[in-house]
Amino acid sequence: MGASGPFDLVVRGGRVVSADGSRVTDVAVAGGRIAHVGDGLSGRRDIDASGKLVLPGAIDGHVHIRTERDADAYDDTFTSGSVAAAFGGVTTFVDQIQVEPGRGLTLAGGVERRLAEAEGACVVDYAFHVNPREPARALLDEIPTLAEAGFPSVKFFMNYDGYALPDDALLYGMQRVAEAGGLAIVHAENKAVIDELVRQNEAAGRSGLAWYGSARPSVIEGEAAHRALAIARVAGCRILVFHATAAEVAEEIGRAKAVGQAAFGEAVLHYLLLDERLLEDPDVGTAFELSPPLRDEHHRAALWTALADGTLDVVSTDHGPRRLVREADGRMVPPRGTSGIEVRLALIHEFGVRTGLLTEERWVDVCCTRPADVFGLPTKGRLEPGYDADLVVFDPEREVTISHTLLHSTVDHSTYEGTTVRGWPVATVVRGEVVVEDGQLRVSPGFGRSAERGWSS
Ligand SMILES: [Zn+2]
Repeated sequence: MGASGPFDLVVRGGRVVSADGSRVTDVAVAGGRIAHVGDGLSGRRDIDASGKLVLPGAIDGHVHIRTERDADAYDDTFTSGSVAAAFGGVTTFVDQIQVEPGRGLTLAGGVERRLAEAEGACVVDYAFHVNPREPARALLDEIPTLAEAGFPSVKFFMNYDGYALPDDALLYGMQRVAEAGGLAIVHAENKAVIDELVRQNEAAGRSGLAWYGSARPSVIEGEAAHRALAIARVAGCRILVFHATAAEVAEEIGRAKAVGQAAFGEAVLHYLLLDERLLEDPDVGTAFELSPPLRDEHHRAALWTALADGTLDVVSTDHGPRRLVREADGRMVPPRGTSGIEVRLALIHEFGVRTGLLTEERWVDVCCTRPADVFGLPTKGRLEPGYDADLVVFDPEREVTISHTLLHSTVDHSTYEGTTVRGWPVATVVRGEVVVEDGQLRVSPGFGRSAERGWSS
């Protein structure tokens, strides 16, 4: 094969956007990897990308495709969720392996079970965080072995009955993560304070979703983030704070970065885009009974600023779609949970890039490149020779009004129903194979593989 081809596939004439800049050129693929980026390349297959953007495949590091929980089970399957991902330009997603307390499961047993569900079912690549939900030392002691087996990211909850780990177990778990060279991920909230504020609201007759946020003040989310960051610093492990919703959390992450801590922050689509007043909407409010809660425009502005300046590193979706349920009065309402895996790239383009809050390069960074660095996906996230040939062709002029009828999750409503965007992914390539093109899925479930994990430093 000469320097100019023929390659297996050439994506021709698009404006190739990376975290560092953009230029109109060709991207060539050989053997499932990026072979060359340059002009005048020829391939046995071509995708004409003229007038369009060519980006590294997007990575969604925080999704819940489906869980084995009794309550709050999500309604996607690995097939429907990964097809939604593919149509949204997402070439790798990271789901979670929960081990429910009291079921006698080891983390390794949970991994085996969840992997078996995903294998043969996905159309894009996937990975998993492991999530111990009880403070048992034996469970936390599994962390180093699992990291070596390819599961180096560990999620810890500080909130919710039956999920939350107390600070001593958090420290012990993070020490095991440090030993493994992995990543601790924290859902940072102060459970005791929230529980007390909920009790006080109830006692005072402050019921209903309008009071929901008042029991979860932003300053207390900031306190929990501070505590998680401090414990990680003592443990000496890399830490990612999941779904920052408040200015105070961004400040804590910024301070940790400033002293050189390996600390990262995640923004989540609905906290960037949706207002707390939605909780009072009788038609959709129930979907947003989320903890931490939706907040006001002051916090959203702080999150966008933190995303633009690098204080927050990645945008994920916390995708957890659920079908409408019938209320006692007969109305159909959405249960708690949001869907986002298919619309993130387009919505961040619309409300970040087109509004001027983010540069095009930063959009690519937070959706495609930084997630590979933060979540430990060393073969993903860059259109450079040697990386997996995961890419998306994005048409910046294509106008789409979001509706569940057009999306691919198996749910009957979208969190962003009726929102119109200009700019939409039109082709998705994973490891050099065209997965979506011309509105059609081109591969079968089982094409998606478990992605390689790890960090170079
Ligand atoms: Zn989540």
